[in-house]
Amino acid sequence: MARVHNFCAGPAALPEAVLKQAQEDLLDFQGHGLSVMEMSHRSKEIVTIAEQAEQDLRDLMGIPDTYKVLFLQGGASSQFSMIPMNLLRGKTSADYINTGQWSKKAIKEAQRFCKVNVVASSEEQSFSTVPARSEWKLNSDAAYFHYTHNETIGGVEFDKIPKVDVPLVTDLSSTILSRPFDVSRFGLIYAGAQKNIGPAGITVVIVREDLMGAAATNSVPSMFDYKTHADSDSMYNTPPTFAWYLAGLVFKWLKAQGGVEAMAKINQRKADKLYGMIDGSGFYANPVEPIYRSWMNVPFTLGDASLDSEFLKQADSNGFLNLKGHRSVGGMRASIYNAVPESSVDALIGFMKDFEQNHG
Ligand SMILES: *Cc1c(COP(=O)(O)O)cnc(C)c1O
Repeated sequence: MARVHNFCAGPAALPEAVLKQAQEDLLDFQGHGLSVMEMSHRSKEIVTIAEQAEQDLRDLMGIPDTYKVLFLQGGASSQFSMIPMNLLRGKTSADYINTGQWSKKAIKEAQRFCKVNVVASSEEQSFSTVPARSEWKLNSDAAYFHYTHNETIGGVEFDKIPKVDVPLVTDLSSTILSRPFDVSRFGLIYAGAQKNIGPAGITVVIVREDLMGAAATNSVPSMFDYKTHADSDSMYNTPPTFAWYLAGLVFKWLKAQGGVEAMAKINQRKADKLYGMIDGSGFYANPVEPIYRSWMNVPFTLGDASLDSEFLKQADSNGFLNLKGHRSVGGMRASIYNAVPESSVDALIGFMKDFEQNHG
C-alpha cells in the first residue's frame, strides 16, 4: 500500500522513518519483551527515553540552561489558561496581539484571569497581515506579551521575533522546529505536538526558570502550576509516554536531517515553490501579505469557488489528502510541515497546474 501525500493541518504527517522505527519497536522495545506503551513511566527505559528526548530538543533549539523544558498534556489550548495562571505574578493585565483564530482563542481565555490589552489586531484585514509595529499600543506594566508566531488557520507568520520590554510569550505550535528560533528572546514558548513534533497528546512548554513559582499564591491547582511539573521532570502524574517516545524519534530524525538550519532551507524552498506557482497562475490566489506568508500553512483559493469540491475530489483520488481549508476561511490549505517531503510539494504543484489547465 502506497502512502498518500498528507497536507493535514494537524494531527499532521509524521516522517516515514519514524513510523517504521515505531513499528519495529512496537511489540518488543529493544529486547525488553514489551512495548513502550506497557512500561511504567518510572522505569529506567521510559526515564531514559524522556531524558534523551529533552536533550535532543535542547540541542536542536539551543535551549539555554536557565530554561525548563516541560512535556505536558491538555494541548496548546490548556496553555491559553496556564499562561495567565502562572505568569501574572501579582500583576493584573497582559498584552496580546490579535493576528488570527488562535490569538483570539488565547485572548478569550486570558480574559478569564486578567485584563487583556489587545495591542493591535488585523481582524479588519481578515487576518491577512500582521499589524505594523508602530501601531501597537503596548502597556509597560503588562505581566507579559503574548503572540501567535504562526497562525495555522490564516497562514500568517511573523517575519521576526517582536522586541518588547516585558516577558515574551509565544504559541509556536505550528512552526516550532521549522527554522531556528533564539529561545533566549522568550520568557515562554509553547507548542502542541501534533503539527511539527509528533502525535497529538503531548505539549512542549519551554519556560524561563525565574518566571515560575508565582502560581501557588494564586490557589492554582497543582496540575496547572508549571513548577509542579518542573520539579518532577514532567512526571508528577502519568505522562503520555508513547507520544513522548514518538516525539523523541522525531527529534532524532531532525538531527539526522541536519537540524533546524537544514530544515529551514528545505522549508523555505518548499514554501517559495508553492507560493510562486500560486502567484504565477492567475487561477489560484493567496490573500496574505507576502512578508507574512507562513512557511508551514499555505491557504489558497481557486478563481472559481464553485470548483472547490471538484478540486478536492480530484485531489483525493490522486492521493493528495486534507487540502480543505479551515471551516472559518474556506478555500484550500496545504500544510507543509517538516515531515511533508519536498517531493509531495512538487507533486501537489504538478496536480494544481493540471487542474488549472483543465478548469482554468
Ligand atoms: C493547533 C493549534 C492550537 C491548538 O492545539 P490543541 O493541541 O488542539 O489545543 C493552538 N495554537 C496553534 C497555533 C495551533 O496551530
